[in-house]
Amino acid sequence: MRVLIAGAGIAGLSAARALEINGIDCEVVEKRERPPTEGAGIFLLGNAARALGDLGLLDEVRSVAYPIATQRILSSTGSVLNHVRTANVWRECGPCLALSRQSLTGILQRSLIPGTVSYGLEAVSTASRGKMRMVRFSDGQEKEYDLVVGAAGVNSPLRSAVFGSNAAREIDISCWRLVVPNNGEIDGWTAMLGNGRTLLGIPISEAETYIYADCRSSEFGDGSVNTMKRLFSGFAGPLGPMVAALDPATAVHRAILQEVPAKRWIADRHVLIGDAAHACSPSMAQGAGMAIEDAVVLAELVSKGGPIDGILERFHEARIGRVGWVQKKSRARDKLRSGSSRIRNAVLRLFGDGLYRRTYEPLTRPLLP
Ligand SMILES: Cc1cc2nc3c(=O)[nH]c(=O)nc-3n(C[C@H](O)[C@H](O)[C@H](O)COP(=O)(O)OP(=O)(O)OC[C@H]3O[C@@H](n4cnc5c(N)ncnc54)[C@H](O)[C@@H]3O)c2cc1C
Repeated sequence: MRVLIAGAGIAGLSAARALEINGIDCEVVEKRERPPTEGAGIFLLGNAARALGDLGLLDEVRSVAYPIATQRILSSTGSVLNHVRTANVWRECGPCLALSRQSLTGILQRSLIPGTVSYGLEAVSTASRGKMRMVRFSDGQEKEYDLVVGAAGVNSPLRSAVFGSNAAREIDISCWRLVVPNNGEIDGWTAMLGNGRTLLGIPISEAETYIYADCRSSEFGDGSVNTMKRLFSGFAGPLGPMVAALDPATAVHRAILQEVPAKRWIADRHVLIGDAAHACSPSMAQGAGMAIEDAVVLAELVSKGGPIDGILERFHEARIGRVGWVQKKSRARDKLRSGSSRIRNAVLRLFGDGLYRRTYEPLTRPLLP
């Protein structure tokens, strides 16, 4: 079987790994000239860790990750609204871990058969040709495949080409991401909620803490570190002083958040996975988890054999419920975060534990029946 994967982000690399360990060769093309060297941190909940275990990579990821035992939500003045022990929900599923994005993609890349990924090559278009899928590349070549896996991210050109007008849409939240020295004050996932503004700190090693900050896009202005410092100047400890101390020249990643509403993402011998199929706000920290799960499920179904159309139908059926749930709950969390502070703080104080459990427990269930 000839399989092409377009995109070498977390979804594409995971899909290649999952196919290769099931004995299925594949080619991956990545339009970037080389693997990314940028990217701040990433938080993986137990279901993402379980899927990395299915790829045979959990021990390696664990060896470079920081274990996250607690998730704590504070108000912008520093009072505790909710505090959960992650093991209460995730114990039977997998550990919760935080690490640098580069470490995660590095482990995925090194796990592949050498030469699997061709950098500096873009899949430009794809079309059905008889019983095969034809792909045209940026170097002018055309090749045929039994299956094309579109893992080209939120602005995937292949999505609109095959699936029409399901374009990504902005969700009125803009964010900064950066890594600062770990001053020892943050030893678990710690979020602070202000009026339409969120600050989050997660240790990714003994030496480094990942900081995420967001606000309404109308407040983002020039997106500079100085703007960030101004917007979060009223935040108390532990995170407020860390932002106040930032050098304006600190390297940050900026983004306007986008989502791709989950619809049907399979077509003739073509399937989308990861953000290309179902990007959403990072409120539930499930983007990477869903991408790795997509990869595991797709490879398992492909390895069982049978006509490609049937495999893709089963894949869609197996995934739509979980990714639809994540999108729905991410939107609900965004709404709660951006609503009245008084109501939100009361809801989190009174019902935070139950909300956490009800939101995440469905994701602890097996990926396939
Ligand atoms: C601010 C923010 C914070 C987040 N935090 C978390 C978190 O803590 N935990 C979590 O689980 N998730 C998080 N996510 C989500 C997570 O980062 C994404 O869901 C995940 O990285 C998606 O991976 P992907 O491979 O689908 O897409 P991408 O990472 O976008 O990869 C797509 C790749 O395809 C390449 N490409 C594009 N077009 C083509 C083409 N035509 N041909 C070849 N290559 C192509 C691109 O260059 C890129 O390398 C966050 C997202 C954001 C925006």
